[in-house]
Amino acid sequence: MRVVSVYIEHPIMQLNSPFHYLLKGEDYLARGMRVKVDFNGRLLVGFVDEVEEVEDLDAYCRNLDYQLKEIQEIIDDEPLLNDELYQLGLWMSRQSVSPVISCFQAMLPAALKPSSSHKPAARERWVIIDDAELKTQFGFSEATLKQFLQKCTSHFYAKYRRQGLIHTEDREKQAQSGQLEIGEAPYQLTEKQKQALYDIEQSEQNVVLLHGLTGSGKTEIYMQLAEKALRQGRQVLILVPEISLTSLMISRFKKRFGDNIAVYHSGLNPSEKYQQYQLVRSHKAQLVVGTRSAVFMPFADLGLIVLDEEHDNSYKQDSTPRYHTRDIAIKRAEHHHCKVILGSATPTLESYARAIKNVYKLITLDERIFNKLPISHLVDMNQQVRQGNFIISQPLTEAIGQRLEAGKQVILLLNRRGYTPIMKCASCGEVLTCPHCDVTLSYHKDENKLICHCCGYSQSADVICPKCGAKRWRNYGIGTQRLVEEVERLYPKARVVRMDADTTAQKDAHRRILEAFQNHEYDILVGTQMIAKGLDFPDVTLVGVFNADGPLNRMDYRSVETTFDLIVQASGRSGRSEEAGEVYVQAYDITHYGIRLAVKQNYIAFFNNEMQYRHSGYYPPYSYMIALMFSGKDEKLLEDAAYETVEVFRKDEKIRTLGPSKLLKKKDECRYRILMKGSDKQYLIDQLWKWYDQQNYLRHQVAIQVDVDPYILD
Ligand code: ADP
Ligand code: ZN
Repeated sequence: MRVVSVYIEHPIMQLNSPFHYLLKGEDYLARGMRVKVDFNGRLLVGFVDEVEEVEDLDAYCRNLDYQLKEIQEIIDDEPLLNDELYQLGLWMSRQSVSPVISCFQAMLPAALKPSSSHKPAARERWVIIDDAELKTQFGFSEATLKQFLQKCTSHFYAKYRRQGLIHTEDREKQAQSGQLEIGEAPYQLTEKQKQALYDIEQSEQNVVLLHGLTGSGKTEIYMQLAEKALRQGRQVLILVPEISLTSLMISRFKKRFGDNIAVYHSGLNPSEKYQQYQLVRSHKAQLVVGTRSAVFMPFADLGLIVLDEEHDNSYKQDSTPRYHTRDIAIKRAEHHHCKVILGSATPTLESYARAIKNVYKLITLDERIFNKLPISHLVDMNQQVRQGNFIISQPLTEAIGQRLEAGKQVILLLNRRGYTPIMKCASCGEVLTCPHCDVTLSYHKDENKLICHCCGYSQSADVICPKCGAKRWRNYGIGTQRLVEEVERLYPKARVVRMDADTTAQKDAHRRILEAFQNHEYDILVGTQMIAKGLDFPDVTLVGVFNADGPLNRMDYRSVETTFDLIVQASGRSGRSEEAGEVYVQAYDITHYGIRLAVKQNYIAFFNNEMQYRHSGYYPPYSYMIALMFSGKDEKLLEDAAYETVEVFRKDEKIRTLGPSKLLKKKDECRYRILMKGSDKQYLIDQLWKWYDQQNYLRHQVAIQVDVDPYILD
């Protein structure tokens, strides 16, 4: 008789310890396989942890205060997670203070998640030839039906079947995979690239921070390292922050390594994802380009991991388990004894600080391959507004005009979608807010709607003021729709395209807009932060950044860093080929060091300034931080829970607490947050677990979310 411990996925309760079940019979069952079990009268899917042979079941049961139930069904034939990944899940749970089962969930493609008990749908029909003569005639003993029917007509197919010479089977569909073709670089590496490559290979540290300007040849270095690993028969993982950037990276890698590279990102449907997953698992895929979740693919022998644009926020998952892709990549590289390359023009302060302390190997590329950095101008918008230029400043207006005349292209970045972010009643000053969130409604002129950017709630924009009944509204601020309108007013002949969450909702819209811009179907690309990164358009010689200091107003210790990153990244889109580029950065707070140094593209000076600020506030990287969020509908209950909790941690001398602070309501949920800081991360985590394990009773009305190393505090 066997006793099996099982991690259970419960729809409401966050259960973190395994439960025990009984397994009769001789069926194969091992760690990492899924089973169905009865839990309080519900049939739930669980993940097997330990399988233990028990000699004397009665004696075993006597020690329990509950009755052992039998496992209802075994779902898988073999473990879904190998030993490395299973251990990784346990480690991730520990480090991110989240339930083990949530980590397994995050690691598996949707088709295999513990909660779904079905095998993925994509199957295909195979023809198996049973007759020896026929085998010789066809030259194979089995093939997909499709392949088979290329060799003979459906008439003969039916006849062979009737005669029992062949039979068919439905099998899981496999993505096609073939050999990579390893090509050579079409040019000589520069001296700087050669040196960087040499230093990376010689480095004793396995984690390398490649700090290189935009356009300094980082991607070429990734490809050289990939080539070496592939030639040794090892697998390679290239991570990029967003789907919109995968297509660029994929096409570059395809040019060098052929069409047989595997891709993995959220744009794939569950069955496509599953197929890619299986290819990696069977070692048929050697090179994978993907986004965040690709870091969990079942590699057999990894020779290299690259994390491009290391600073990007999307590497941090913003729901439980709140892991950071970099931490997972580093952990996996330890297991596989391979290198991790973190590449960025604006590394996170944490990573750069580690590199300076020699925890990571620091490699710097401080020259662009083709050109100098673009010439950047900081525009004081206070002055411009006094002159009547509310949206586009005078110097930028002129610069755009010049580019249009010369047939060049322009990118304009404004990190806010919609027409205007605020509508105010013209007679009483009332501002319209979302009924579900403490957020003002944005006016979207295209749809004539008021939309909440937090929850998606929308209503018609033809409203009367709920307070005074007036019907006139004033618009404040600018969004991308209004910017496009202004550009079209100033340059009636220009062809303008907008790229933001509203215009890219459809599958493939990203790629279509970018390709059209690349083909010169448009002169001006207006967009939100999604156009700031990675794009490489040789004819863009002018970039305008609007409301550059806007994000500084966020009450977040990282807001200066994100502001700096966005300006530097956006500037990097200008002047990428022979012709020099120009950048105009429009801001109100033009004395702020984050803005000034971003315009100068001076990362090191920014790093030193910002580190002083972090030091004085005891913020990361000088401390480790954990955010604890309470949310729910019952505000009194939340408040009590938050205040009770903060008392527990306040008694601890090694922990500094901030809050509880009441946050803005979101989606009808009230929220309270406590921040904890300390210099010993493991200690913080241990204390949090101690507390967390006692909280089961709370979890019905108060949802608790833990965020270790929080990225965005809003
Ligand atoms: P990054 O990844 O740092 O932005 P890239 O690797 O994209 O830089 O290089 C910028 C451009 O320079 C690309 O178009 C690339 O093809 C080209 N390039 C890179 N290395 C060389 C080289 N050694 N010689 C010529 N062109 C190069
Ligand atoms: Zn809302």
